[in-house]
Amino acid sequence: MQKIEHIAIAVKSLDTSVPLYEKLLGTLCYKKEQVVSENVNTAFFRSGETKIELLESTTDSGVIARFIERKGEGLHHIAFAVDNIESEIHRLKQEGFEFISEAPKRGADNKLICFLHPKHTTGVLIELCQEV
Ligand code: ZN
Repeated sequence: MQKIEHIAIAVKSLDTSVPLYEKLLGTLCYKKEQVVSENVNTAFFRSGETKIELLESTTDSGVIARFIERKGEGLHHIAFAVDNIESEIHRLKQEGFEFISEAPKRGADNKLICFLHPKHTTGVLIELCQEV
């Protein structure tokens, strides 16, 4: 794995949280994008080499809505950049890790993404992402 590509935070409202993170980081949100397949709106910030990604649910029953219902707003996942997502998935499966979905899918920000199951990663949701 390379660097931490982004850290994702689940929020109730981008309208509220984008100005908050703009003040916190001292930088403007540079991109907003809807990911229809995941029922989320995303907003991106740069913090050095790492991005901060805010996630807002577009539906009451989406993954992020259910996460906030259970745990409240907060850290949702950490994403690591990889050169070749297929070979990294293969390597990690051999090490005994499980994935939430079998194949990589298209995520926000022109990435192929895949999530490890948090039961094998000390409760932290970890994403692999490859630039496409
Ligand atoms: Zn992510």
